[in-house]
Amino acid sequence: MQPAEPEQLRRSQLMMGTIIEIVAYGQDQNLLESAISAAFDEIARLEKRLSRYHEDSDVTRLSKSSTGGEVAPETAAVIALGLDVAKRSQGAFDMTLGRLKAVWGFDKEAPSVPDKNAITDALQGIGPQAISLDKNRVTKSSPQLMVDLGGVAKGYAVDQAIRVLKNHGITSGAVNAGGDMYLLGQHPERPWRIGIQHPRKQQGTVATVEIRDKAVVTSGDYERYFEQEGRRYHHIFDPATGMPARLCQSVTIIAESVALGDALATAVFVLGPQAGLKLLQHYPETEGLVIAADGTAYESPGWKGYRAKP
Ligand code: AMP
Ligand code: MG
Repeated sequence: MQPAEPEQLRRSQLMMGTIIEIVAYGQDQNLLESAISAAFDEIARLEKRLSRYHEDSDVTRLSKSSTGGEVAPETAAVIALGLDVAKRSQGAFDMTLGRLKAVWGFDKEAPSVPDKNAITDALQGIGPQAISLDKNRVTKSSPQLMVDLGGVAKGYAVDQAIRVLKNHGITSGAVNAGGDMYLLGQHPERPWRIGIQHPRKQQGTVATVEIRDKAVVTSGDYERYFEQEGRRYHHIFDPATGMPARLCQSVTIIAESVALGDALATAVFVLGPQAGLKLLQHYPETEGLVIAADGTAYESPGWKGYRAKP
């Protein structure tokens, strides 16, 4: 007798400021249903801890406190990973840009270019040294510092959603949070094939990769931006200037975990193709594809190993 065709279940929800899509394969529709629903519950739980838009999240409490405080182990894990990338990227990745983000108003209806003084003020005291972590205790170096985990939290949540799917016995599936994704196991008939969004052509791709049990994360200047006097202003900031980083259109990272891929995609975006791909050498098992500001594509040496066979 032929084994039954695996069932597929696909669900999406608006969470963490993006559409999160989960797909799982298996023989038992009820199991798929409960696994996916538990994975969404886990993302919701993490969002409450990690989002600056929740009044009693760890992030909001840290931002309001003058010296820091205790955080949940999950928050500590995200901050530890972010601090490592912050240090290795010489501060290109920076979780203390909360005030800068607020000044630009990307969360509001009509963001606009802030005046120079507001930017200079928002950059006061920021940097990889501005917060430190000892077990679950975070210390802030100055009271006005605001924490923003927006460059890494989504990735962490996707990792944890995958963990929940696995705990339910799912061996084939995927979680995609607006370009931060993990591909679990094997697509039923073939490896997962992921088309990487072209930063300037809405329907186009810049590459297609074949992935199994890995994260694929893209940061792009097309995700959230506005235009003023013919210039594009987007949501990934260069902490050195307080302005949107200018060297890339998009960065895609393949990594073991989505959290690491997420932080690295943001960091490499700020550093640009040369310094960015150099940063990846510190992290084994990571590869990157950078589309520079002029549209030129740069790849890390091992990227070609993932390219889909035509
Ligand atoms: P991503 O889409 O992962 O590249 O993250 C962009 C988000 O990360 C922004 O919306 C900010 O919340 C935050 N962010 C912006 N610039 C940086 C930076 N240089 N380092 C860390 N996080 C950043
Ligand atoms: Mg990121």
